[in-house]
Amino acid sequence: MFSGSLQYVVPAPPDLGGAFQVAPGIKWLRLPLPFKLDHINLWLLEDGIGWMLVDTGMNDQATRDLWDGPLLAHLEGKPVTRILCTHMHPDHMGLAGYLSPMFGAEVWASLADWSFGRLLARDGGDDFNAVHIDFFQRAGLTGPDLEMIRERGNSYAKRAMAPPPSFRRLLDGANLSINGESWELIEGNGHSPEHMCLFNQARNILISGDQILPKISPIVGVWPQEPMADPLDLYMASLDRFDPLPDDVLVLPSHGLPFKGLKIRLAQLRSHHEQRLDDTRRATQEPATARQVLSLLFPRVSEPNDVVFACTETIAHLHRLMVTGEIRRESGPDGIDRYMKN
Ligand SMILES: [Zn+2]
Repeated sequence: MFSGSLQYVVPAPPDLGGAFQVAPGIKWLRLPLPFKLDHINLWLLEDGIGWMLVDTGMNDQATRDLWDGPLLAHLEGKPVTRILCTHMHPDHMGLAGYLSPMFGAEVWASLADWSFGRLLARDGGDDFNAVHIDFFQRAGLTGPDLEMIRERGNSYAKRAMAPPPSFRRLLDGANLSINGESWELIEGNGHSPEHMCLFNQARNILISGDQILPKISPIVGVWPQEPMADPLDLYMASLDRFDPLPDDVLVLPSHGLPFKGLKIRLAQLRSHHEQRLDDTRRATQEPATARQVLSLLFPRVSEPNDVVFACTETIAHLHRLMVTGEIRRESGPDGIDRYMKN
């Protein structure tokens, strides 16, 4: 179907909390995450008298301790002049509200992701919890999985501070001048509302955020706030925006290693979701709950937190097939939704 493999241009990442130059004027920082996905890549771009920081790390004590000390050495005595968040997820925007006043640096993000991040960091309470419990109950989650939803409340707010009350807006297709160089903003959808990637045509470098990752496929999920969403359609459509880029562009992703081979990776991501859709078709030959379909799509997932993420991704694939008219959904007397072929 597609041939060749990705070419990793740097054999090993920096240590957690470490950094090195990955291209002229661009430093690669790596911070820890307390998950199976145990790291995030941040980028420091030379920006006039200082640095533009791309993404922040998550709001936890380990990351704040790094920013309060060891990471500052990588700045070489120069200020952080701007903080750009590719999107609103906690590992990317979770410390924007901490670092912005600390450095006196404005936060740049898309309107949708800044707004949603600020909203989610402050949301919660009875109506929030009720919508979340209802959504996952209808999906067929039970036992410890549902208990975790009940107990944890707003998990976003536990991992992310609200971004600052004012920000600078990033718009799809606009050009951002960084250190006198032009970086084009390319919007991705489906993983977050308006995820921003940065492409430097002259240097042939793409900062891809989570939109395009080398090893894993970014989560594309339906969440309780927008229970009828079709994010997989949005994600697949936004992948097309990267087709015109050169195949030998150096891709700097938020997780994993920098790579070349964009066209191969785009083909792999498309094929991955096509296969998942095929699995979803097979799983709905007989009426099945989202939880039952999940077992076929993600047979090894069992930890409650992983089940919740897998459930949102499973529903994204079910919704795609509902929108195309291949399957339908019926709510049973038990209040649980079942999906079946038309
Ligand atoms: Zn993300």
